[in-house]
Amino acid sequence: MSIADFPRYPLTFGPSPVHELKRLGAHLGGANIWAKREDVSSGLAYGGNKVRKLEYLVPEAIAQGADTLVSIGGYQSNHTRQVAAVAAHLGMACVLVQEKWVDWPDSVNDRVGNIMLSRIMGAEVRLDEAGFDIGFRDSWKQAIADVEERGGTPYAIPAGASDHPLGGLGFANWAFEVAQQEEQLGVFFDTVVVCTVTGSTHAGMIAGFAALEAAGGRPRTVIGIDASATLDKTREQVGRIARRTAELIDVGRDLRDDEIDVREGWAGDLYGIPVQSTLDAIRLTGQLEGVILDPVYEGKSMAGLIDLVRDGTIPRDSTVLYAHLGGQQALNAYSALFTTTQRVGQRVGE
Ligand SMILES: *Cc1c(COP(=O)(O)O)cnc(C)c1O
Repeated sequence: MSIADFPRYPLTFGPSPVHELKRLGAHLGGANIWAKREDVSSGLAYGGNKVRKLEYLVPEAIAQGADTLVSIGGYQSNHTRQVAAVAAHLGMACVLVQEKWVDWPDSVNDRVGNIMLSRIMGAEVRLDEAGFDIGFRDSWKQAIADVEERGGTPYAIPAGASDHPLGGLGFANWAFEVAQQEEQLGVFFDTVVVCTVTGSTHAGMIAGFAALEAAGGRPRTVIGIDASATLDKTREQVGRIARRTAELIDVGRDLRDDEIDVREGWAGDLYGIPVQSTLDAIRLTGQLEGVILDPVYEGKSMAGLIDLVRDGTIPRDSTVLYAHLGGQQALNAYSALFTTTQRVGQRVGE
């Protein structure tokens, strides 16, 4: 089967927009940097990368007669907020296990941002004290059992919609969308930079671009920037999902280990806790471009992009596509980091 043969339930406005980050590229002295914006491509609760993955899970949920979406994440999970939005959109119930993935001392961490939006959208939110893990959990199994006990039909969606047979398809499709946009724009993105934690965003891209290459497309580099700070687990999960997805969409060859390119250096010590490079990247992108990044994911992947361009790992003549995966809603739980304006560059008029 090719990617086009899998049922897809549209939850986005269409292809996510692509635009150049000219001032950022100039500031870094090259490369040509572009962004593809999953954060503005859906009308469902601000969207984000999980909506695109869910487009391929929803047909299965509907086919199974599910009436309740059940999922799991941290208190400030973007993923669970997107599941809550999709459930509302479909007229289904929603149960969310929200674990204490991040020991972040903000008094409104369990009240603002994503978790507030999930409550507004009617999800049953279950707070749980368990720490960060991208794997399967007892609290999650309990939530599924509870729905069944009430007579409901649950459809279980793992953390980040990643470790699911169809989890990689959304971003395999993203790769094909990129190829179409390249044709329209007359550009070729030789390097793609993406944040990776639960893995199916990066993994889907690897499989999708491998399929394009197998069909005669030019090779390119897909760099995953780890934001999990549990690198071995994430790398293993990206590899497993990439290979599973490549098989599903008939790439026709085994993926090589060097295609599973997850890099460390920008996650800090803990998932969900920003470090100086994260904050610098958030301010730089905000002040040069008016583009907002979050402190859990996109600030870390942008910090990686900035360093890789600065040190020449990504060549100056490269055309880079930064996958903006959303996540700004979590910023509300990190207000203590931004109580003053800290300028990172001069502007005309100063
Ligand atoms: C979930 C998420 C990621 C990471 O994607 P995975 O598929 O879990 O690796 C990156 N950025 C944002 C904003 C997210 O919500």
